[in-house]
Amino acid sequence: MNFVRVALDVPLPILFDYRATAVTRDDIGRRVLVPFGKKIAVGVIVELTDTTALAAQRIRRVLSVLRDVPPLPEDVLQLLKFCSDYYHHPLGAVILNSLPTRLRRRQAIELAVSAHYILTTAGRNVTAATLPARAAIKRELLSLLQSANHGVDEARLRAVAPRARSALKTMVELGWIERVIDTDTRLTPCAPGDALTLPAGRTLTHEQCAAVASVRGAGDGFMPWLLFGVTGSGKTEVYLQLVAAALARGKQTLLLVPEINLTPQLESQVRARFPAANMVSLHSGLNESERLHGWLAAQSGLAGVVLGTRLAIFTPLPQLGLIVVDEEHDASFKQMDGLRYSARDLALVRAKQRAIPIILGSATPALETYHKALNGGYRLLTLTQRVNAMPPDIEFLDTRQKPLIDGLSQELLKAISETMKRKEQSLVFINRRGYAPVLICRSCSWTADCHRCSAKLVLHAMDRRLHCHHCGHHEPVHAVCPQCGNQDLLPLGQGTQRIESALARTFPAARILRVDRDSTRRKHAWQAMRARIQAQEVDILVGTQILAKGHDFPQLNLVGVLNADSSLYSTDFRAGERLFARLTQVAGRAGRGTLRGRVLIQTEFPQHPLYRALGRHDYPSYARELLAERKQAGFPPFVHQAALRAEAPRLDDALSFLARATSCAADIDSGVTLFDPVPATLVRLAGLERAHLTIQGRSRTALQKFLRAWRARLETTGARDVRWALDVDPLEL
Ligand code: ADP
Ligand code: ZN
Ligand code: ZN
Repeated sequence: MNFVRVALDVPLPILFDYRATAVTRDDIGRRVLVPFGKKIAVGVIVELTDTTALAAQRIRRVLSVLRDVPPLPEDVLQLLKFCSDYYHHPLGAVILNSLPTRLRRRQAIELAVSAHYILTTAGRNVTAATLPARAAIKRELLSLLQSANHGVDEARLRAVAPRARSALKTMVELGWIERVIDTDTRLTPCAPGDALTLPAGRTLTHEQCAAVASVRGAGDGFMPWLLFGVTGSGKTEVYLQLVAAALARGKQTLLLVPEINLTPQLESQVRARFPAANMVSLHSGLNESERLHGWLAAQSGLAGVVLGTRLAIFTPLPQLGLIVVDEEHDASFKQMDGLRYSARDLALVRAKQRAIPIILGSATPALETYHKALNGGYRLLTLTQRVNAMPPDIEFLDTRQKPLIDGLSQELLKAISETMKRKEQSLVFINRRGYAPVLICRSCSWTADCHRCSAKLVLHAMDRRLHCHHCGHHEPVHAVCPQCGNQDLLPLGQGTQRIESALARTFPAARILRVDRDSTRRKHAWQAMRARIQAQEVDILVGTQILAKGHDFPQLNLVGVLNADSSLYSTDFRAGERLFARLTQVAGRAGRGTLRGRVLIQTEFPQHPLYRALGRHDYPSYARELLAERKQAGFPPFVHQAALRAEAPRLDDALSFLARATSCAADIDSGVTLFDPVPATLVRLAGLERAHLTIQGRSRTALQKFLRAWRARLETTGARDVRWALDVDPLEL
């Protein structure tokens, strides 16, 4: 073959042809250096070919094929191609972005392989006396080798002296010693008996047993399972049992979690249970070389368990035998910009492709997932009981009658004080960081707004600045109202910082810890905080989402929820589903030890159906209600959606692009419905105005067929200044 088709990270949906010599099929999936314009770019070989449409004088030559690490395997390339087709994103960008950053650079990787040296027959006959006096290093190396029976580690020998490396090289050339590369210690199956042992004193609950038995009994072909287990029901233990079974068969497990903050806890559980499994984690908090090494360990089959956030879905895993998606309902599995993929959905594609089981776990499954489980598309496993604990008691504090002080009700304060007296922990949950979400002028009603976004600036107390939570802009707090000169500027509403200081005033002796994106920004900050909470060095936790998800704090028995109402009457049809999930998660933090947990939710609508279902811990009936509504209104999962998003410095330009996009779709025969273009809820973001239109179809196939035809036309409809993108299965409109 004379030519290669190369994927490059450019925003064009094409591959690039280059001339290449001495390239074989084994090089498909390898990185290459190629000239691109005036630069040198890193690409990936996707195909070999004998012919090219390019004129002979225009075709350029591959500069080099990087054979430093193994090529991307066939199944991963297939997954990436699927991803590019389904999400309508250029293949080159999809492939290159799936690689660890280090592999996207032009420098080849020098892999640190471990090796040892042995003496040859000739070497054994060399005596220290025959060496010249100045060969001290060689003499020492020889004596080390002669005193060992099975050779000596390269690292040990190199440590003898700075010049040992070159001395070893000379000795190899003299034929005295040989360098032997250590054989790869590939994933070695552990004995099933060992792997399945539980920590001392633990037995599986009946429900856990049944879940594990069902999955194992179904064999190792493709099978999607929904593990629907209430908070604290021990879903993790079910995963661990299945991981053990996979390891025992020499198989790798891919364990996906929505957020990097959830990795440390699971990481230590997996490591403690399977010390020999070479678990690696892959997430955005790692530096380049950590990412690379984890990725290579996965690709070599050496890592028995790969724990990662959404990007880990693209990791090469030759022995993949099981995929687990924990908290599968979580929106973080969907990337919201660039390649707008859902790692959960791709996990299903991958499991099918590799013909292996996949477990989706949640206490509040996404309605799409639950719907499939109800109609038999997925098999349903349920854990209805907490392990050794009662479900938390959920109460609603009607705030219409009673005055709140700094957003906190008297009853909640009283409950916190009682909890402290019992030396237990409380958590106050508020889904907003900062001090106050609005700064308003008392005299003219001016508010501090972001000049780049259609959003208000949030007052932060720590740095005394106003921050935009959408674009990151921040500015000093105004001394006087810029509109009327009044000095009386009033912070309205509450954020975590304000609640923290209000609690500090009420409970001067309490040890209060605020956990939000601001306080956990530094690397390892959250891990340190988690340790403090577990060591009972904290009485009251104040925090956002970060605290809500999946953590296990046995001394935490009281949860207070502030400001939940704001999501009750949102225009987003998914708002109810999300709020139910979030509140279930937060409530689930209470009472995981021996004491019964108590959850107090401050609300003006205690009779709202969502709250009533939540109080009964009744996700199934609430979900059925929502599904009935969705069916009637024609929303997902009963239809499939995509969005065409456009942004431009002026809203009119974005809207008129969308209008043109609509008219160029008119004669595509498809059976999909296009809705009118509308401005986004947050119209301005970082200086650009945004709008979108929704496309809806009864089947994925029809929708995809339409999108393919449409996209080709959109590419010639583009306008200057307008950036557009397709978003398939959007989570937000
Ligand atoms: P979930 O993820 O379903 O909310 P976890 O997996 O965090 O629940 O389990 C809740 C708690 O119960 C954890 O502390 C876990 O160690 C413990 N646990 C799980 N299974 C068992 C069991 N069979 N026996 C005793 N404790 C268990
Ligand atoms: Zn004013
Ligand atoms: Zn902004």
